[in-house]
Amino acid sequence: MAEGEFYRAASPREAAGLLAQHGGAARVLAGGTDLMVAVNKRKFKPQVLIYLGDAGMSGISQEGDALLIGAATPLNEILASPLVADKAPLLATAIKQMASPAIRNAGTIGGNLANASPAADTATPLLVLGASLKLVGAKGEREVPLAEFFTGPGQSVLAADEIIAQVKVPAQSAEAKWAYRKVGKRKAQSLSVVSVAVYCPLSGGKVSGVAIALGAVAPTPLLATEAAGLLNGKALDEATIAAAAKAAAEATSPIDDARGTAWYRKRASEAVVKQLLTELAG
Ligand SMILES: Cc1cc2nc3c(=O)[nH]c(=O)nc-3n(C[C@H](O)[C@H](O)[C@H](O)COP(=O)(O)OP(=O)(O)OC[C@H]3O[C@@H](n4cnc5c(N)ncnc54)[C@H](O)[C@@H]3O)c2cc1C
Repeated sequence: MAEGEFYRAASPREAAGLLAQHGGAARVLAGGTDLMVAVNKRKFKPQVLIYLGDAGMSGISQEGDALLIGAATPLNEILASPLVADKAPLLATAIKQMASPAIRNAGTIGGNLANASPAADTATPLLVLGASLKLVGAKGEREVPLAEFFTGPGQSVLAADEIIAQVKVPAQSAEAKWAYRKVGKRKAQSLSVVSVAVYCPLSGGKVSGVAIALGAVAPTPLLATEAAGLLNGKALDEATIAAAAKAAAEATSPIDDARGTAWYRKRASEAVVKQLLTELAG
């Protein structure tokens, strides 16, 4: 970085404008817990860094039935938020199991999503809650459902001059059941080998609008829509749960890597979905 340039953007639009001005040589920097690891490993050498910490993109508020979380909000701030604990406890539960307190103090929700890792731990709770992203570009802004954001490992629909400015999270229904489990190689400082989030609204003892998402078992965080479809309108009995867990595992397309084999990930996907649904069934 000796000959590089460093900017502090004062707004999301200014950050996007700087990205447009500098093209592929520029990267935005939030907490740096992914980006600087890549730089240190010499995977990439940015010529221009645009820091988002002063761009007015941090903070959590409520708008109607939704939470608005600034993309540059540190993960620990989200974890400590009474609003998130009340309206989106599923998200807080997932964040609590991420990395370590030090990494969560720096790492942001926007960085976790923009990095587009299949193992991004905020993705699965946000997918099942139906979150959407406000993307700000040099020429305007748009809202994209998170379910349409990821396109492949490390890839998303973000244009070269766009940043994620805000994450909109519909509040959980107080009656809904939900569950989250992360399987890693260790309890802390560990990327997911498999993660599963389940959100299960109930109506008259039957589930309706259930959503299941899995992480680290496909090229992108995955919404298991077929598995969820098998549950809707039904009681959570043993046979229904087993069928849904099998369908969820069939939707995965894992790979072998240093953290686990594809075989293990598929088996674990089925087992964890089954476990969580059984817990929700009481
Ligand atoms: C030891 C360690 C443990 C970790 N454990 C976990 C874990 O358990 N689970 C997990 O999911 N992750 C984990 N991570 C990864 C990382 O901490 C998270 O992904 C974190 O949320 C990244 O946020 P950041 O603000 O640090 O992103 P940065 O490193 O600043 O940026 C990451 C990427 O996103 C881009 N970017 C950042 N913000 C935006 C934005 N608003 N709009 C557009 N692009 C943006 C950057 O240009 C860069 O390409 C771990 C990392 C480390 C080093």
